[in-house]
Amino acid sequence: MNAFNLKNGTLYAENVALSSIAATYATPCYVYSKAALVHAFEQFQAGLTGTNHLICFAVKANPSLAILHLFASMGAGFDIVSGGELARVLAAGGDPNKVVFSGVGKSHDEMRAALKAGILCFNIESESELHRLNQVAAEMDKIAPVSLRVNPNVDAKTHPYISTGLKNNKFGVAFESAVQLYEQAAAMPNIAVHGVDCHIGSQITELSPFLDALDRVLSLVDHLESKGIHIAHIDVGGGIGITYSDEMPPAFKAYAEAIMQKLAGRDVKVMFEPGRALVGNAGVMLTKVEYLKMGNLDDADKPKNFAIVDAAMNDLMRPALYDAYHEIVAVQPREGKTQTYEIVGPVCESGDFLGHDRALALEEGDLLAVKSAGAYGMSMASNYNTRPRAAEIMVDGDQHYVIRAREKVEDLFALEIVPEPR
Ligand SMILES: *Cc1c(COP(=O)(O)O)cnc(C)c1O
Repeated sequence: MNAFNLKNGTLYAENVALSSIAATYATPCYVYSKAALVHAFEQFQAGLTGTNHLICFAVKANPSLAILHLFASMGAGFDIVSGGELARVLAAGGDPNKVVFSGVGKSHDEMRAALKAGILCFNIESESELHRLNQVAAEMDKIAPVSLRVNPNVDAKTHPYISTGLKNNKFGVAFESAVQLYEQAAAMPNIAVHGVDCHIGSQITELSPFLDALDRVLSLVDHLESKGIHIAHIDVGGGIGITYSDEMPPAFKAYAEAIMQKLAGRDVKVMFEPGRALVGNAGVMLTKVEYLKMGNLDDADKPKNFAIVDAAMNDLMRPALYDAYHEIVAVQPREGKTQTYEIVGPVCESGDFLGHDRALALEEGDLLAVKSAGAYGMSMASNYNTRPRAAEIMVDGDQHYVIRAREKVEDLFALEIVPEPR
């Protein structure tokens, strides 16, 4: 489903013109389509009907309370990676008993908060973490449910920064030591082994890495069962990719069905941790062209034209961080000759760009929509250059409302203290 379509020469989010969103709330802002969020979740579920499953939305992709609340109302659980994300899930009305806690650096406080809330499972990423959790649970007189996040050493064929399933990265425990670690866990008084977990990376556009990883995980499960260690759930992680330009990821339904096929005949609950797939194409970032700065044909062999817009790398970091591609379109496309532009922001970094070499017919003041911005957009935004983070707007049919107000400049330094002279 595409919720962002041209109607009578203007780009709409559902039934609301993005030009009227900009007029009402100013730019830059993120605009989400509720129908697209619902549709993505339903498509994911569609491959899982009748199975024992739980979809745990990876909060870090988009931690907006409104979005968490929406998914919670549809039965979602959540994959969290910090105590802060746990607090968000609880504030949004999420069920703690559907929360799994991933991440390599869980602090004592984070473990305590999660045990107090009664989460479903800790995904353990190292031997030291396992010992710490046993200790913390003992102090609280609780039993901590765990999975070990194993590293199946498969190549997810994605960007190195978002590939997590190879041996040489910081995530998970080595496949070879997993059995020994499970035996330790099973013997710990305040640990209960519930499952096994793996997450091999992000923006994966082929099925084979998922299925290869699952084969390895299943061989581990069989080995553990033969040693009397029962595995009640298999968490296959997230990572299913979306279309930013011409990628052709498997349909969510096909992906889920392929996983379920591998699990046929097993009495096991399967858990998924999709992030990007549920939100990525449900959001755009709306920005305005402040200045056009045309290259001089005479003094450069390859002159560059710049469209300087009011959104920047602090608002959407993916292009600067991963050289990621986002389609950029005019909200009200102009007739006439296009020019090739670098789409850049006001931040004082040469890496501050949103897109390279984009053919557009532009005038100053025009609105642009940066597409596929629903995942890892606002969640990675910062205040670099003392720029208030953008507003977030939800569109639902012909309705629109703020789900996060634009930050105020005063708030950005409200916690700062200028020391008194002494
Ligand atoms: C980031 C992350 C996810 C979500 O990844 P997507 O590519 O957004 O689906 C799931 N599980 C873990 C452990 C993660 O770190």
